[in-house]
Amino acid sequence: MTIQAKKSIPVPQVEPRAPIPNQNLRIPGPTVVPAEVLEAQAQPMINHRGPEFAAILRRVSTRLQYFFQTESPVLTFPASGTGGQECAVANLFSPGDHVVAITIGAFGNRLAKIATIYGLNVTRIEFPWGQPADPDVVAERLNELPAYKGVLMTHNETSTGVTNDVKTLAASIRRHNPNALIVVDAVSSLGCIPLEMDQWDVDTVFTGSQKGWMTPPGIMMIAGSQRAWEANKTAKMPRFYFDWANTRKKLEQWQHPITSPVSLFYSLDVALEMMLAEGRDAIFERHQRTGNYVRQRARAMGLQLLADHEHASNTVTALLTPEGINTKALLKKLREEDHVVLAGGQEHLEGKIFRVGHLGFFTDTDIAETMDKLEARLHEFGFKG
Ligand SMILES: *Cc1c(COP(=O)(O)O)cnc(C)c1O
Repeated sequence: MTIQAKKSIPVPQVEPRAPIPNQNLRIPGPTVVPAEVLEAQAQPMINHRGPEFAAILRRVSTRLQYFFQTESPVLTFPASGTGGQECAVANLFSPGDHVVAITIGAFGNRLAKIATIYGLNVTRIEFPWGQPADPDVVAERLNELPAYKGVLMTHNETSTGVTNDVKTLAASIRRHNPNALIVVDAVSSLGCIPLEMDQWDVDTVFTGSQKGWMTPPGIMMIAGSQRAWEANKTAKMPRFYFDWANTRKKLEQWQHPITSPVSLFYSLDVALEMMLAEGRDAIFERHQRTGNYVRQRARAMGLQLLADHEHASNTVTALLTPEGINTKALLKKLREEDHVVLAGGQEHLEGKIFRVGHLGFFTDTDIAETMDKLEARLHEFGFKG
């Protein structure tokens, strides 16, 4: 066998940098970031172990506890939402543990898949895409199952535009198994849709900066209940980067064990200030009102929602692409001609639905314009409603 001599790598011939367009970005993350938050990122770099960063991390962590509604520390990691899913699994369980994954769509499935990859024994309770988890069906299924250590679920299923009734589900699970570790993926809901971590007695909640937090992608936030921290002590799953105990210990000095994503924290700091100025209830109300508006406009156009009325999400609306219209072509036209960016469907819903994100930073005008442009393009594509 001859070993080929390695060639030196030539200077790459790539397209030159192009300006980033200013769009009406209406996908369920990343979401539009307000100018003040973007500008915050342009500040000079500082020592992530110095007093200035400590002040920021302290402020951000404390304010996050308010938005999570928890007395537990909220840990932050440089990661996306999927990192939150992995972090929860790695910190709570040991290989072979039996967990139940309630799934109503793509992100519920991803969490179940991660649990399986980590060696958990996963029982899935699945519901059709477009529907929420029915607490009665869940209770019935739990009764039939052998002992389980945890239950994984999505608060807001971004792939289908459905919000689960976590409060009722958690209460029902708790009645059945007082020690169950209830893990809630709140990536596309926390900050926008009510979730009370301590009062609802859920054990782990995580979210991502690019969804409802008016911040660029890159910070994952996660909190564990006392029950979760107890479980963490004996959880044998291998972990290093995502280790809770290490991260909590460092947080006592308002630091991270690794190099903090300093610029993202400048952003999140400003975004949280803006969110507090608006008020938690006012933010919830704005999302509720906008969710209603998008659904009402869609129905008035003659479009069909994937989710049923009662469980439709206030952060993302999934709409069925009308018969005879090519989803990709429609979204391309909207993007290129109207600068309105919508999301397509995931997995088996690709080409069948499209999604309008209405979370984080938006005005009534942004959303009205989105629906106006959508309506006009649908007519252009021959949709009569
Ligand atoms: C976006 C999202 C994720 C995954 O987040 P990434 O940032 O893309 O890794 C997980 N769960 C839900 C509910 C989401 O909306």
